[in-house]
Amino acid sequence: MSETLPAAGTADVDPRTAELRERLAGVRQRISAATAAAGRSEEPQLIVVSKFHPAADVVRLAALGVTDVGENRDQEAAAKSAELTGLAMRWHFIGQLQSNKAKSVAKYAFSVQSIDRPQLAEALAKAIAREQEESGRPDLDCYIQISLEDDGGAHRGGAAPADVERLAESIAIASGLRLAGVMAVAPLGMPPGKAFEKLAVISADLRGLHPEAVGISAGMSQDLEAAVQFGATHLRIGSDILGSRPRVR
Ligand SMILES: *Cc1c(COP(=O)(O)O)cnc(C)c1O
Repeated sequence: MSETLPAAGTADVDPRTAELRERLAGVRQRISAATAAAGRSEEPQLIVVSKFHPAADVVRLAALGVTDVGENRDQEAAAKSAELTGLAMRWHFIGQLQSNKAKSVAKYAFSVQSIDRPQLAEALAKAIAREQEESGRPDLDCYIQISLEDDGGAHRGGAAPADVERLAESIAIASGLRLAGVMAVAPLGMPPGKAFEKLAVISADLRGLHPEAVGISAGMSQDLEAAVQFGATHLRIGSDILGSRPRVR
């Protein structure tokens, strides 16, 4: 019998599905334990980061109860989401985004978590408005990506904390965009707890101005426990569920 063709009735035990089920269960257990340890009553939303992994894995994840996936490149996300239009899955865009890709992202994204400048918010607002006219899509959940580096963001990958208020305003006033909260990646060389504590303070300040912006997207495979401790509402977990991916592409 061919190894690549499972016999009828055994699709359930496709080895990759079995592997994903096990890894997913392990991560869910860690999330439950961290939630309990933090004295929180509600678990954060798990977003499985599917970048570099094939659309077939997203299908397997859906069968295992995953409802949310994250991608960081438009080309890859657009192709996968187009291939899987029949699948009930929310696609979150979590990577650096050029304004000229806003039109494409508006076709499939439930959220963009990496908004770091007003021009990007404007481009997304325009693209979402057009998409809403054509397809009636819902408003886009928008997260401000914040740089937690000690240099205050003098580099790529997130807005400086000092720029959050202005950026939030540009999202809040745009029709079609919903200000959902903040997102960050813990910087290398800083204990993740310290980074996420900083993020929690920024989030509290933002909520003072925009009470609806309750989202805190923080925590990856290596640091999800610290993120849960400091109030993450969304976790973005890739390698601990899907396995390692090539380092560079
Ligand atoms: C890749 C990626 C993740 C997932 O990281 P893992 O270490 O694989 O869990 C989370 N957030 C962002 C922004 C990413 O690019």
